[in-house]
Parts: sequence; structure tokens; C-alpha cells
Amino acid sequence: MPAPLAFALPDVTEAEINAVVECMRTGWLTTGLVSSQFESEFAAYVGGGVHAVAVNSWTAGAFLVLYNLGIGPGDEVITSCNTFSATAKIILDVGAQPVLVDVDPVTLNIDVDKIEAAITSRTKAIIPVHFGGLACDMDRIWEIARRHNLRVIEDAAHGLPATWRGRMIGNGESDAVVYSFYATKTITTAEGGMIVTRDPNLAKTCRLGRLHGINRDAAHRALTSSLWAYDVVQSGFKCNMPDVLAAIGLAQLRRSDEMTARRTEIAHIYRAAFADMPLELPVLPPEGDVHSWHLFVMRMTDDAIGRDDFIQQMKIKHNVSCSVHFIPLHHHTFWKANLKQPLDFPVADRELARTVSLPIYSKMTDADIDRVIDSVRETILSAKPYEFTARPRLNATV
Ligand SMILES: *Cc1c(COP(=O)(O)O)cnc(C)c1O
Repeated sequence: MPAPLAFALPDVTEAEINAVVECMRTGWLTTGLVSSQFESEFAAYVGGGVHAVAVNSWTAGAFLVLYNLGIGPGDEVITSCNTFSATAKIILDVGAQPVLVDVDPVTLNIDVDKIEAAITSRTKAIIPVHFGGLACDMDRIWEIARRHNLRVIEDAAHGLPATWRGRMIGNGESDAVVYSFYATKTITTAEGGMIVTRDPNLAKTCRLGRLHGINRDAAHRALTSSLWAYDVVQSGFKCNMPDVLAAIGLAQLRRSDEMTARRTEIAHIYRAAFADMPLELPVLPPEGDVHSWHLFVMRMTDDAIGRDDFIQQMKIKHNVSCSVHFIPLHHHTFWKANLKQPLDFPVADRELARTVSLPIYSKMTDADIDRVIDSVRETILSAKPYEFTARPRLNATV
């Protein structure tokens, strides 16, 4: 049995390790100068003069945004049924009701044509999810939001550094955009997240809200003469990003373009290698736009082998781990009990039942890529009455 090939791995180099060690040696571990440096470099990377507020997860950051925008009991917030549970859970956690919308059959992003039918007098916001790293049609979403006076908070957990119409996700017209730095996301801080907004007031309330609502953070207090003085000025929580983790984030951010280039290369190699297979390959972004390729989601089009059998054989015969993004929210026990709408999402039910996510991460070697390709081809073709033929190697060795 070959060694296991992981579905996802963080790309940690000496730069990240040294940054953590250096931070540890300064003796300042929690939120301070490194975290603010990470925020300013992140804001500059996104562009457009946005404010960036570092937090300890996407979940905490998006919760803070909804909470500080005053979204709560009696309100409804629209999002996609094809997302991670956290996207909908933060809506419930501020006391509002998530309202799910079906997906577009091509992009698997929220079906923009179905958003307006989900809007009621209680709707306050839309949370589009840039699924896999392919931007949603933001122009149409902003237009709908303007017409119905709704907030837009983008779930950009997969969205760094994707673009929409040549503009980086994060510096558009939304009220806020939230990123995840979970261990396997496009850049990581082990756990972490970033809120990006053009609204200085929202940035300020999120900055206070991530640290108990206290008006001066610990670093600031250490630099002033009144070390003991602070004031709790608003309702706050505890979800600041420590400097030890921000140090990883700074090193990762500076490598973001290089890591994206490698994922993009892998996506194109897969697309070429599977062109003759009974598979529907992920769509490319519009001409001139960047796909972050956080995920490579393909669809099985042949009934010779089902999706679940395919994933099982990839693991058992080839020791290659695949995944599924996502099990639609309305298929989960908790969400069946907590959604207050008909669980009628025919496109998601049809399309997501045949999706498979293949490994795509910058740490993959050429040999890993070859192995994934051969395993996919062999698994699908062995379910057919003809012979598997190996394809030429990528640059050999490695
Ligand atoms: C990972 C993920 C999240 C949650 O991010 P955390 O940083 O783990 O809280 C939210 N939405 C989507 C689409 C994700 O993939």
C-alpha cells in the first residue's frame, strides 16, 4: 500500500517557523504589534483602502460583523445551502433566521436568480459564499442588495486571493468580507480569520468587540503610563488573534501569490489530464479574473461508478484522500430541525450528490499530482470494460 496522500495540508516553510520563534523570543505572545502589522499588510494586499481586523476564526469574525450591524431576533439572512455549517450558524447565534437558497448548476455558488424570491420584509442581509475560490456574481448581488436595502457580508473563507471583474474580493461594495485562516485554507494562521470593511465604524466596533469591548488593547496599555486603566465601552467577546499566530499569517500572506500560482498550475494539469474522462470539470473564472483554487470540485457524469464508491476506492486501492464540498446544509440533522423553510433545493440535491473534491495544495509534488491523476483514471476506467492506460509523467522524479 502506498503512503497516504492527504486531501489537504498547510504549506509551512522555515519562514513561518522562524516568524513564530522570533515572536516567542520577544516575549509578547498575544495581540500586539505583529497582529497590527498583519492587518495592515492584509489590507494593502486586498487594496482599496479597506480596514482589516484580525480575529481567531472566520466564525468569530462573521458573528462580530452581524452582531455589530445590529442583525438579531426577528431578522432573516440569506445564504447558500452549499456551504460550511458556520455560515448559517452565526446567523442563528445572533438570534436571526438563516434562509437558504439553492445553487447555480454551473458554478455551485448561490443561484442569484433565486435570491429575490427568498427576500421578505424581515430580510436584513445576504451572505454569498465564494465556493471553492470562484467569485460569486457580485455585481448582481450588490444590485439586489441596493434595491432591497440589504447588507452584504461575503463569506471569503475560500476567497483569497480571488478577483471579481479584475477587483480583489474584499475591496468591493459589500459591508464586510470575512476570511478564514483555518489550517487548510489558502493561507493559514493555524486558526484565525480577518474581517475587511470600508466602514470605519464597523471596523471600530469589531476591533472593540473582539476583546471584551475594552477601549484599549493590551499592547496600547503597555505603552502608556496608565497601565491599569481601561473602560468597557460596548458588548464584547473574546476572539482576538494572538501575535504568535499573526506571525504565521504574515509569512503566509507574503507567500500567497506563490502558493496560488502552484494551485492554479495543479488545476490546469488536472483539467488537461481529465479532459477525456466522464467527468464535469470545475469552471474557469471569467477571462482576466483569478480563481483562488482552494478546492478542485469535479462532478461524476458516468453511472459506471458512483461518487461514494469512487471516494472509497481512491482511499482503499490508492490511499489517496478525497472529500466532498459540501454536504448541503439541509441534509444535516441540526439544520433539518432549525431551518424554517421547505427543504426544497433540487439543484443542490442533484449536483452535490455527484461532486468530489480532489487534493489541491501548494505542497503537492509533481509525483503527488501524477499519483492523483493515475488513481482517478484507474478508478473510473476500471469500472468500465476497457483497459487503463497510464499517461506520460510530469517532470519525472521529485
Ligand atoms: C472554513 C469555512 C468557514 C469557517 O472558518 P473558520 O475559520 O474555521 O471559522 C466558513 N465558511 C466556509 C465556506 C468555510 O469553508
